Amino acid sequence: MPVEPSVRLKYSSRVVANLKNMLISEIFNSEFITRSGYVEEFFKKYKISREEFNFFLEYSKDLDWLTDQEINSIIEFDEDLDERIKFLFHRFRYSFMTSLRVATRVPPYVLIEPTSICNMRCPMCFQTDKSFTTKEFMGQIDFDFFKSIIDQCHELGVGAITLASRGEPTLHPRLGEMIEYLNGKVMEIKLNTNALRLTKDLSEKILNSDISHLVFSIDSHLKDEYELIRIGGDFDKVFENVSVFWELRNSPKYKSKKIRVSISGIKLLDTQNQFEFKKFWENYSDDAYLNYPEERWNTYANQKHPELRKSCLYPWERMYIWHDGTVNPCDVDYKSFLSPGNLKDIGSIETCWRQLNSLRASHLSQNRSMINPCDRCGVYHECER
Ligand code: SF4
Repeated sequence: MPVEPSVRLKYSSRVVANLKNMLISEIFNSEFITRSGYVEEFFKKYKISREEFNFFLEYSKDLDWLTDQEINSIIEFDEDLDERIKFLFHRFRYSFMTSLRVATRVPPYVLIEPTSICNMRCPMCFQTDKSFTTKEFMGQIDFDFFKSIIDQCHELGVGAITLASRGEPTLHPRLGEMIEYLNGKVMEIKLNTNALRLTKDLSEKILNSDISHLVFSIDSHLKDEYELIRIGGDFDKVFENVSVFWELRNSPKYKSKKIRVSISGIKLLDTQNQFEFKKFWENYSDDAYLNYPEERWNTYANQKHPELRKSCLYPWERMYIWHDGTVNPCDVDYKSFLSPGNLKDIGSIETCWRQLNSLRASHLSQNRSMINPCDRCGVYHECER
C-alpha cells in the first residue's frame, strides 16, 4: 500500500507530556462521571460508544499508542480541550482499534466518490480496464444524496472523510459546493486530485474550506516521463495549476491556513528518480513521495496468493461509498464483489458497516483465500493481534 512519509513530532517532550496529562485528567475528572460510572451524555458529547470507551479504559488510556503525527494533529486541531478529546477518540478508533482488528461502531474513515469517471488512463489504474469504463460503472453522485451522507457521518461521529476514489473528483460540476458542505462536520478531510482541472476558483474554495489534506497525484517532475505515465495528462497545465495553488496557499491571506499539501506519485518506470522527484516537487508542497503501485489492475485477473493469510486492514478502517450509493471495503475491488449492498437501500451507514462483519471474520480466521478478490489481491497489513 502507499506509504506516506512519517511526519516528525514538532513539539518538545514537556509539551507532549502536558498535553497527555491534560487529556487524561479531563477524561477522568469528567463532569459526566457518577458513582455508577460514565453517563450517556459523556458518550454523546465525545461521539464514542460505551463499548469503545471501555476498550479505551482497558487498553490505551496511557495514550502511548499516539504517533508523532497524531500528537501534532491533536495540538493543532483546536485549542478547545473538548475538541481535542473528540479528536483523540477518533484517532483511537482509527489507528488503535483497527490495528487490533477490533470493529468500531461506525467507520472511522469514509471515502466518498464524487464521480467514477476519470480524465486520464494511467497504466497502473483500473481506469484502463475497458470492462470497467462502461455505462454500468460510470456516473456521478447526486448532490442531495452526498449531503445526506455527510449529515449521517456528522451525526455518527465519523472522524475522517476523503473525497475521491475510482474517478477524478474535479470532474464533478458541484465539487466546490461539496467542499463547502463539509465545513464544520468532519475532523479530517482529504481531497485527492490529478490537478488537471484545478482552477483558481476551486483552489480558493479549497483554501477557504476545512480540507486538512490535499493530495496531488503526479508521477514525475519531467514532462516526457509524466505524459508517458499519465495518459491524457498535460504536464504544463498541471504544473501551472499546482504552482498557482501553492502561491495562493503561501499568500498572506492563506499563510496561516492549516492544510497539508502532498504530491504523491506511483513509481512505475526504472527512469523515475525518487530523489529528484522529491527535490523538485517539495518546492510546491509540504511533502512529495513516490510509491510502488498496489497490486490492483486487473485485480480480478491477478494470480492467486494462497500463501497470503494475513488480514488486510481496510475492512476495519474504512468504507467507500461509490457515486451510486454502493458501499465497499476497498477500491482494489473496484467492481464491488465485496459490497454488502447499497446505502440507498440499506438506509444507514452504521448498518452497512456492520454488514462487513462476515468479511472481517473471514480475514481473521485466515480464510481470505476463499474470497474473490481478497485471494488475489496482494494487500495485507501487519496486525497487533
Ligand atoms: S484483501 Fe480484500 S478487502 Fe483488502 S484490499 Fe484486497 S480485495 Fe480489498
